[in-house]
Amino acid sequence: MAEIQVPPAEIIDRIAADTIAILDRLIAFDTTSSESNLALIAHVETYLAGFGIEARRVADDHGGKANLIATIGGAGNGGIVLSGHTDVVPVTDQPWTMPPFALTRRDGRLYGRGTSDMKSFLALALATVPHLAERRLRRPIHLAFSYDEEVGCLGVGDLIGELLQQCTPAVAIIGEPTNMKIVDSHKSIHLYEVVVTGVEAHSSLSHEGVSANMIAVEVMHVLTRIAEAEERLHRNPRFDPAWSTLTIGVIQGGTAPNILARECRFAFDLRTVPDRDVDTILAPFWTAVEKARTDLARRAQGGDISVRRLAAVPALREEEDGEARTLCTMLSGTNAPSTTVSYGAEAGYFQQAGLSTVICGPGSIEQAHRPDEYIEISQIEAGARFMARLVAFVRD
Ligand SMILES: [Zn+2]
Repeated sequence: MAEIQVPPAEIIDRIAADTIAILDRLIAFDTTSSESNLALIAHVETYLAGFGIEARRVADDHGGKANLIATIGGAGNGGIVLSGHTDVVPVTDQPWTMPPFALTRRDGRLYGRGTSDMKSFLALALATVPHLAERRLRRPIHLAFSYDEEVGCLGVGDLIGELLQQCTPAVAIIGEPTNMKIVDSHKSIHLYEVVVTGVEAHSSLSHEGVSANMIAVEVMHVLTRIAEAEERLHRNPRFDPAWSTLTIGVIQGGTAPNILARECRFAFDLRTVPDRDVDTILAPFWTAVEKARTDLARRAQGGDISVRRLAAVPALREEEDGEARTLCTMLSGTNAPSTTVSYGAEAGYFQQAGLSTVICGPGSIEQAHRPDEYIEISQIEAGARFMARLVAFVRD
């Protein structure tokens, strides 16, 4: 890969200043995942049009939300994707002391919902556009902004599908907050809801019904054993915690102590280290579900158990000699080894689609999702250096 010349300080300063101005606008759009993101998308389209760049929308089924794709430097192959999500988590019931949907600058920090997670990266990418648009590029740059990441990565699949219809990019950089460190792996996320349907009867007549709660407990017991086995037997020391986690976050069942429960519902969350296969991990669970189904059918008419997958976010796996890591090491100007995160992100989807992928973005996950979310301005400056080097790298 070619050496990158050190970009002039005025370009870095310009990108940093423009990023803060753009961020000020982006924070003002309440793009909580429950709301539409179309006002923000329209704002970005107008901004890009000012540099002669046409953006494409990839709308959701209801037309209330959209992904955005914009290509700078022609639709050739081998491009570099800068990707981030436009939605933010709710501020409801959080004790904010600053306005969440207005940018507040104080003591070297910028406050507002989405400053770390992850509108600063979007703003950095947009602030870099003028420097990319004014020259011929050796490789195209694609902006790929998604919706509904925070509620299970719902938008990114269509976004990638549309992008790949046009060309075959080589590299994806996902700008989730990593303090500009390079992250080469994240865990997968699998969410399931289980509904056990029993048959109600008076608790004194237990032979005339079947308690959904008591069947559900058997199945949950198997999940608990799975969680213990993963922690004991299958460690990957690059992660914290170093094993695949399985937790049961929700249980609802029954109506009174003296009634056999007609229904019990529970949901569990499995996050696997990249080298553990979800089907292997869950094999004892599926066996338990089949056994429960047989039991229910034998003991009571109408008894059943159903399992619904709520989300499946693929893991990001460490690549051997991955181009994304090599590129980002150059762009960040450090030789620090790449690392891992335990949170899930859209990166695994890009990698699954064949792109060499890493996560690298400004801000810290420590500040994400919290009241008074902020980003250090020094992180914006680090991001601006990264983007200025990217400009130098792709320009002819
Ligand atoms: Zn995020």
